[in-house]
Amino acid sequence: MPTDIKYKRILLKLSGEALMGDADYGIDPKVLTRLAKEIIEIQRVGVQVGVVIGGGNIFRGEGLAAAGMDRVTGDNMGMLATVMNALAMQDALEKLGAYARVMSAIKINEVCEDFIRRRAIRHLEKGRIALFAAGTGNPFFTTDSAAALRAIEVGADLLLKATKVDGVYSADPKKDPTAQRYEKLSYGEVIQRNLQVMDTTAIALCRDNKIPLRIYDMGVGGNLLRIMKGEPVGTLVS
Ligand code: UDP
Repeated sequence: MPTDIKYKRILLKLSGEALMGDADYGIDPKVLTRLAKEIIEIQRVGVQVGVVIGGGNIFRGEGLAAAGMDRVTGDNMGMLATVMNALAMQDALEKLGAYARVMSAIKINEVCEDFIRRRAIRHLEKGRIALFAAGTGNPFFTTDSAAALRAIEVGADLLLKATKVDGVYSADPKKDPTAQRYEKLSYGEVIQRNLQVMDTTAIALCRDNKIPLRIYDMGVGGNLLRIMKGEPVGTLVS
């Protein structure tokens, strides 16, 4: 591994919406390929990469429940949506010559592997990009919580959350011109100030297990590699 690379193993959280591009539903193949290239770029310099992908570009349990569906059924559909996104990312990664494995928290063995922690670590050690699908496998959770959980389980050095803004702000920078970007925050500050970084379960898991979290703008090409080199891109929560 080149000496300027600071991380051995990371967990990247991509929201389902990250895959939509400018559309309001589904997957934009161009966006998917661009994200896949960035992931491969850091894998090729020796970083072991796990990815948790959300499903909000297809279904969210909460939204389905608001429209009258049973919440657990809605959450199951949301989890299945994350599997579809992970399969799409696996395809994009493999088209670009990388090795990837989708591992699901719910059994769908005709489609992908089950999440088995020790096997996941083996994939990472072998340089395969592990795509952790179906969230935690339980309703009433989110893929943010799943990302924190998987990061801890596989012993990642860093949890990364890809967003459309360049970090965490004191207020919505689109609405409030005085909004300030934080370079660093503590887990406690995120929870107390109710900053919309990740849900509280995810932040509490990171805090209790001392895993640093970085929020960065995925729209800027090369950001993932910059972070791997230790550059202070976005906001660090630690
Ligand atoms: N979900 C769930 N349990 C989990 C993770 C996800 O039930 O552990 C469901 C939930 O309905 C959620 C949907 O899957 O709304 C999609 O996940 P999420 O909203 O976290 O996706 P993102 O916002 O990251 O695209």
